[in-house]
Amino acid sequence: MKKLNLTKLVLATAVSLLLYNCESNSEEVVEVEPVAAAEVASMCFSDIMNAEGDKARGVSTPSKHWVNGQTIRVKFLGGSTRFQAKVKEYASEWEKYANIKFQWVSPNSPADVKVYIGGDRHWSALGTDSKARNHSMNLGYHDNGGPIPYGLRGTTIHEFGHALGLSHEHQNPLAGIKWNKPVVYEEYARPPNNWSKATVDFNIFGQLRKNSSKYSEYDPKSIMHYTVLQRHTLDNFSVGNNNVLSAIDKKFIAEVYPRGANNTGGGNICKGVANYNGSTSYSVGDKVIFKGNVFERTRNDWTNLGACAN
Ligand SMILES: [Zn+2]
Repeated sequence: MKKLNLTKLVLATAVSLLLYNCESNSEEVVEVEPVAAAEVASMCFSDIMNAEGDKARGVSTPSKHWVNGQTIRVKFLGGSTRFQAKVKEYASEWEKYANIKFQWVSPNSPADVKVYIGGDRHWSALGTDSKARNHSMNLGYHDNGGPIPYGLRGTTIHEFGHALGLSHEHQNPLAGIKWNKPVVYEEYARPPNNWSKATVDFNIFGQLRKNSSKYSEYDPKSIMHYTVLQRHTLDNFSVGNNNVLSAIDKKFIAEVYPRGANNTGGGNICKGVANYNGSTSYSVGDKVIFKGNVFERTRNDWTNLGACAN
């Protein structure tokens, strides 16, 4: 477990207090990560608010996923050349397992994902929501010429996971984390969060519905899991600072964006499959066409089976 650096905590807390109000962002499909130095003290789970709060949305849909095999254009809105090179290197971890490609375009080019390196927060829009935003991801790091910050790797991979449509692993209904609720309430009641009990209930103890979570098994090693401090659980359970893709992360993203799934057998895999309909309730095994790809309903999500043949 990483030791809390109190000086940094106080500084980060003061800065966050000035610049950010978690709850004001709750309607956005953007999530804000804990500031690394402050650990959990400044977490905002605004993407959980959106996922759980919008009951009308129902089960997960393939709508946040990119088209399988897609080239996703990414550009930087700021940050040093040195940090940008590192972000490209770290983000490319996903390309090893997912059938997507990041194309890094110049600041003046149109792009799907727009990354700013700076400020004091880490957040990203979810999946294809990135397209509609002028600034869709933020990595709150500053290049002062010193060593590359340790957290840049894990944060970059995590935020690009959101940009590919992944949610948080601690939202997994199978997580079963035995929270030490009084401690969590007390710590989140402090600045910069100033959260009421109801907000803590909703943002921290709340879980995604089973049919809207991504994983079929709980994976505390996931890059999409937050750090959990020992003092926040009743059984000394904790989750460290994950900064690489876990085995399940690799397997899962390869199911969302499978390689070699495109129709190569001569038949049309889209034949007889109806278009996705947001008002239809689908069962496991059902197939739909969405954005020119066939998706099959699984217990927890949708699997992209590949693009329709032309
Ligand atoms: Zn996150």
